[in-house]
Amino acid sequence: MRDAALSPARHADAQPHPRVAPAELRVGGLSRFSSVDFPGRLSAVVFVQGCPWRCGYCHNPHLQRRAAAAPLSWSGTRDWLRRRRGLLDAVVFSGGEPTVDPLLGTAMAEARAMGFAVGLHTAGTHPRRLHEVVRLVDWIGLDVKAPLRDAALYDRITGRRGSAHRVAESLDIVLRQARDYEVRSTFDSAFLDDAALLDLADDLSARGVRSFALQRARSPERPDPAAARCGPTPPTLDALRRRFAAFVLR
Ligand code: SF4
Repeated sequence: MRDAALSPARHADAQPHPRVAPAELRVGGLSRFSSVDFPGRLSAVVFVQGCPWRCGYCHNPHLQRRAAAAPLSWSGTRDWLRRRRGLLDAVVFSGGEPTVDPLLGTAMAEARAMGFAVGLHTAGTHPRRLHEVVRLVDWIGLDVKAPLRDAALYDRITGRRGSAHRVAESLDIVLRQARDYEVRSTFDSAFLDDAALLDLADDLSARGVRSFALQRARSPERPDPAAARCGPTPPTLDALRRRFAAFVLR
């Protein structure tokens, strides 16, 4: 998932709705305009609070905890979205991990009722909830962080046991039921080498994944990984391109 760039933890600008109503989606941040979070659509990005995993390269660690009070209210965010009809195409639910929230489906249905397309960024932590909401989603970006066959490596990246199994279940749901999707992986040489990346790609293509994006890890020391020439070798990139109908390197 990308940075919650306008999250209230970093930008006072993103605090239009301080009231917190009970029994609402927990909104940890809002990006009012994005052209990169839902392919081909102009979207607002709602960053949902909470994630059970603790990946070392997480860009939004301030969203991992589900704090007692969410900094933004969904009802206020929804009112703001209502005024953006005709100006934005879509609402993307990102995080944190949106599927952690039991009210995700309610919020998605409300966004759809306003005429927005709905996008979802997920790491596949909660396959059961993904199954509940998938019919409400027009496009899913699913993170797959390591070869699904390597449960130990997966758990080392996420800091939690049993994560590969959950992601495999979520991937099956995406492949069977999603209207449109992209599977994406982050290449961080602290966790993946070229051989592991090829194993990951083999796991995905064997399951029928057709659209794959590889994201080079960013960090404060390495804000532009393309300029730093980090990432897999050219032969590995060629091998990845051959495995998928659509492949992109970011
Ligand atoms: S799955 Fe990992 S990278 Fe994504 S929000 Fe959770 S801790 Fe961060």
